[in-house]
Amino acid sequence: MDVFLASPRGFCAGVDLAVDIVDLAIQQYGIPVYVKHQIVHNPKVVADVEAKGAITVENVEEVPEGAVVVFSAHGSPPSDYQIASRRGLTVLDATCPLVTRVHNEAKKYTREGKKIVLVGHAGHQEVIGTTGQAEMELVDERQDSKLPDWSKDSEVAVLTQTTLSVNDTARAIARIKKRHPNAVVRNDICYATTNRQAAATELADMTELVLVIGAQNSSNCNRLKDVAIKKGVRAHLINGPEELDHSWLYGVEKIGITSGASTPEKQVKAVIEAISPDNIFRVGPGEDKTTFAIPRNLRGMVSGGTRQSKEDLILDEDN
Ligand code: SF4
Repeated sequence: MDVFLASPRGFCAGVDLAVDIVDLAIQQYGIPVYVKHQIVHNPKVVADVEAKGAITVENVEEVPEGAVVVFSAHGSPPSDYQIASRRGLTVLDATCPLVTRVHNEAKKYTREGKKIVLVGHAGHQEVIGTTGQAEMELVDERQDSKLPDWSKDSEVAVLTQTTLSVNDTARAIARIKKRHPNAVVRNDICYATTNRQAAATELADMTELVLVIGAQNSSNCNRLKDVAIKKGVRAHLINGPEELDHSWLYGVEKIGITSGASTPEKQVKAVIEAISPDNIFRVGPGEDKTTFAIPRNLRGMVSGGTRQSKEDLILDEDN
């Protein structure tokens, strides 16, 4: 049995940055440091930062007055910053810069008097953060959800959640453009999501079963699974070897493995060890390493103003 390993897969620059910010916050301020929402959507990453002294809460109101809080990579609405200010909290913002860019686009188009459509998933943390930035209507790209009832000559701007299906989003945008041909459309699906879906497509073309390693609440992991299923290949999303059902492997000669942007490489390695393949082949073009700068108020903690990722990239040569 052979394993085909997608490249790229796993941690993106935004996740690297968010995890580093929690580490640096603990070094600078001591424990506990609070984290509003899971720092990234992966239970093992959350458990790791909690083992170092972070405490995850769902609402800013749960953070004791005067404490230090890191806001998660998914972004937060302005109301969270206002509550933090009222409570005298020190806020370290781990919002991915690519999500902040969407927030800034929302504010810019609002200033220009445009009506905004956000293509995304109701209830996802990133969507909660983005919809708080300005007035906008949400369209779910997974369904033919109703478009806003705006006159055809309205000036419209279309933004997207960063972790959506590239293909489904293109279809949703085509529907919006049909109604509003002059709509301004931003391509907000991030480089990490796009590249991982492209590699997963290649993987699905050459394998009989695809295993996506990551968390059930990770949007980009679920989209990777969807990519394989839409290609007609069986696919499962599992956190690690403990969720691997060996009956899935009976009669299968070629297994594809990929992982979402919030999945540590050690979870991928553990699954590969549990499968114990004869050979491992890399599939996909890889990805240039991207690094985001840490926030100004933590920069002094890092020698030379740069940082090294601490992620244990066991299979780094494949990335
Ligand atoms: S998946 Fe994309 S938007 Fe999300 S944290 Fe990673 S780089 Fe940023």
